[in-house]
Amino acid sequence: MIGIVVVAHSRPLAEAAVAFAREMPDASRVPMVVAAGLDDATYGTDAGAIAEAIQRVDGPAGVLLLMDLGSAVMSAELALELVDDEVRQRVRLCPAPLVEGLVVAAAAAAAGQSLDAVAAQAIDALAAKMPTETTEGDRGSAQAVFDVRNEHGLHLRPASKLVALVLDFRADVRIRDLTTGAGPVSAASLSRVTGIGAGQGHRLEVSASGPDAADAVAAVAALAERDFDDVADQPSSGSVSGGVLAASPGVAVGPLWTPVRPTPRASSRPAGDPAAEWRLLTDAVAAVRAETMRRRDQVEREVGPGQADIFGAHLLLLEDMELLAEARRQLDAGRTAEVAWDAAVQLMSEEFGALSDEYQRARAADVRAVGDQVLRQLIGEPGVFPSQTGILAADELSPEEVSGLDPDVVTGIVLASGSPTAHSAILARAKGIPMVVGAGSAILGVEAGTMVAMDGGSGELVIDPRAETLASFVWRAGKHDSERAEAAARADEPARTADGVGVEVAANVGAVADAALAESAGADAIGLVRTEFLFLGRTKPPTIDEQEATYRGIAETFGGRRITLRTLDIGADKPLSYLPSVPEANPFLGLRGIRLALAQPKLLRDQITAIRRVAADHVVDLMFPMVSTVDELQAAVAVVGDDRPAGLRIGVMVEVPSAALNAAALAPLVDFFSIGTNDLTQYALAAERGNPAVAALADPFDPAVLRLVDLVVRAAGDRMSVSVCGEMAADESAVPLLIGLGIRELSVAPVAVATIKQAVRATDAKDAKLRARRALSLPHARAVRELF
Ligand code: PEP
Ligand code: MG
Repeated sequence: MIGIVVVAHSRPLAEAAVAFAREMPDASRVPMVVAAGLDDATYGTDAGAIAEAIQRVDGPAGVLLLMDLGSAVMSAELALELVDDEVRQRVRLCPAPLVEGLVVAAAAAAAGQSLDAVAAQAIDALAAKMPTETTEGDRGSAQAVFDVRNEHGLHLRPASKLVALVLDFRADVRIRDLTTGAGPVSAASLSRVTGIGAGQGHRLEVSASGPDAADAVAAVAALAERDFDDVADQPSSGSVSGGVLAASPGVAVGPLWTPVRPTPRASSRPAGDPAAEWRLLTDAVAAVRAETMRRRDQVEREVGPGQADIFGAHLLLLEDMELLAEARRQLDAGRTAEVAWDAAVQLMSEEFGALSDEYQRARAADVRAVGDQVLRQLIGEPGVFPSQTGILAADELSPEEVSGLDPDVVTGIVLASGSPTAHSAILARAKGIPMVVGAGSAILGVEAGTMVAMDGGSGELVIDPRAETLASFVWRAGKHDSERAEAAARADEPARTADGVGVEVAANVGAVADAALAESAGADAIGLVRTEFLFLGRTKPPTIDEQEATYRGIAETFGGRRITLRTLDIGADKPLSYLPSVPEANPFLGLRGIRLALAQPKLLRDQITAIRRVAADHVVDLMFPMVSTVDELQAAVAVVGDDRPAGLRIGVMVEVPSAALNAAALAPLVDFFSIGTNDLTQYALAAERGNPAVAALADPFDPAVLRLVDLVVRAAGDRMSVSVCGEMAADESAVPLLIGLGIRELSVAPVAVATIKQAVRATDAKDAKLRARRALSLPHARAVRELF
């Protein structure tokens, strides 16, 4: 979102204008500051104060400067010379009328519009005050009529195309539904445009006034002619609906709300003596550490240690010597604790942000998140926002923010960006809050309180639904709740398909406490222990004894039933501080999983020794991750040796296309296959998991992925079991597809065990097999989803 600076001769005038502009919908979120007057009572403008104000609201989206007159303009121009080149590029001096321009700019900025779009609207802010009769050639008016042909009418996606288009014109564009008489409404407001409920076949009138009226109307007519550039509507059974992606199942209906979380700004108080400032800073860091640990413990209890590990990285940053040393240097140079901390955080996040490695770059966000928390603590501003009733809309949510949500109050989450595999989505699933992601920035412009209906299982999202749509979602939400209750009641029973085929539903865990969750969730086995969690966030590897204690703890907590220990899947994308690492341009294609384990033989040997000790007393399966070749698997199996404890089965994860294509050659070396669809999909489609830009491409329903799964099942034949332990297994709509392909074990997060068992019970294995055969020859994921 852009920031706004108001430059005026009178400080009370500027402050009153800002207070007035903040009354616009959502404008309280817009960073707006004044650089006005020489003090509260003296008129004048000061270039230095303007430059400082620019820095305070500067961000990637840029800064708009609104000025009153005379020296305000000169001082603003001078201020631009005082800021860095890079910042200057993002600043626009806007000759708009101060009050009207500010009000319009605040509303447009709150809607997430670009700097240029906001500036254009601010300049045109007097249009509303102009008499309607216009002078030929100066201002004009135009109108046109068109029919809506889109299958679901002018809903969110086409409406957002319309709104984005008209914002580029200096014209007041209005839309009226001639079929129903609804409107006219401003075509610049997404909620108003979707609110008229123009359905397929409705005839609409577009009218415009202002200097660009004719061009605006022509452009709207052309857009309508292209059916608003909207791809055909997706079937309701698909998990992908336009750009919107399903991220956490469940149906929700409720008023939209957006969190209020202004970026904390360091205050300009005079600095005390450096020792006192240092105490302030270390107290704040200690308080944030305590809060982060509290949250980690809460997530560990409610969700599982695997997810709680997210907070481990934040704790490490809070202890980071470099960060604290830089802050100390700044303090010694006479800065306040807030300014010093802010500068140190900025420096570190810039360093991370400049790295070429995607994963490392992403750490810049962690640095900023931790930096904001400490800054908030220093200036006494609350961190995590309070939950409100209804559906939360945000650009992104941090894991801390999701973990702080009250699932009894927040009925759903819609993210403008985000990814179904991000930690925030994993936490939303674990908390049972329905979520869709990738809704686009238009969602941030929808007015608070607007009714929203969503299905986090199918990716459907309807803004301001019509009465009948709303009623259908309310019905589905009730049905979803009763189905969950029914599933929970039968969680401990084994799952059989309607025609009697047994399917094991196991759990994926990260640590001992997860095993207790798996047990109470009714899991038949533990199909995947991600042992790498034990190796992360420490200064040296866990000893054999430590590992044994953890693995034994998992087996005992799970009541002695089968557990599947995967050897550590770590790599250059998740570097261990105690291993030498060489920077890699493409870490996902680098030294990862079994490749790294074979390159660090002691690490693998010690882990296998610990696993063998536990396997002597418990039912243990062992499997290797990220295997690509027969040679690798042979080398890994050799580390286990021939004198295995009785009952210790060895398996291989199939998550690289070469392993699936070569499954027949791998099969004789192992006892079972476990398909990691998360990685298999990423590698089959060359779409990095967790990268929102390619999230829609990384679809495990793609026939290319299904054909790889089919190859593995065929290679296994009757001799070996094949399980699926990627996120696909936890997708209810994928259950008949996987059973149809011959999968007889699904391993999912503990929270999904009960519903996946129900999905198994609802499947007819014979029918599923026929449909799965057909799916293999379909052209794309969409067609497969339609079939299932
Ligand atoms: C997978 O890739 O599907 C898998 C289960 O492994 P991970 O998600 O831990 O990489
Ligand atoms: Mg994997």
